[in-house]
Amino acid sequence: MHAPQKQGKKKYHRHTNGTPNERSAWELLKNYRRALSRYNIDAAELDLDNNFYWLFRLEALLAKAHRTFDEINASHFGGQLLRPRIIYCTRSTGGYYNKNRHTIGISLSMMIEHGEPEFFETLLHEIAHIQIASHSPKFYELLRAIGGSGRKAPMTILLRAKRERYLAEHYPVRVRCPNCRKEYRYRTRRALSYACRPCCQKFARGKFDARFRLVMA
Ligand SMILES: [Zn+2]
Ligand SMILES: [Zn+2]
Repeated sequence: MHAPQKQGKKKYHRHTNGTPNERSAWELLKNYRRALSRYNIDAAELDLDNNFYWLFRLEALLAKAHRTFDEINASHFGGQLLRPRIIYCTRSTGGYYNKNRHTIGISLSMMIEHGEPEFFETLLHEIAHIQIASHSPKFYELLRAIGGSGRKAPMTILLRAKRERYLAEHYPVRVRCPNCRKEYRYRTRRALSYACRPCCQKFARGKFDARFRLVMA
């Protein structure tokens, strides 16, 4: 499953084989709050300080996830699959299935921001990975058969913040076209000697035109 957004060259999948860093929901919740404050993000609307509410909800959902697994196992796999551990993880979105540990991790921040629909979409995606490791047509066939839509993992506050920081670090020069006002990002200030390509194509027959030279944004 290919997520639409990239952080540098790294693609965000619902699934990766990353080594899980297993922590309790309580620790993950604290981590998530810390991460948001590191990025100076005020997510008051998420009511993250309400520990009681969130821990209750997070645990309840894990219990429901195990029940969902049991149902799918019974209805689609003849009860042949071994029950995986299902936990929350620190990924910004989506989740993973780790074969060696037979563990499914689901992004805590995604669950908190997007709730049950994305939680279960990721769960189904990872359950399908127990049977098929690759993102092959057969994988998506199976995913649909067990009730998954196959849609991409959603954007999260944390993922956006990480991407923004990545861009700021690697492409610090923000410029824009003085004509169409489109923004561009470059590594160096050499960008100020370039012109906006779409505008040059539209108004200067594709030739460099100083009228469309990029300026600092
Ligand atoms: Zn996957
Ligand atoms: Zn332009």
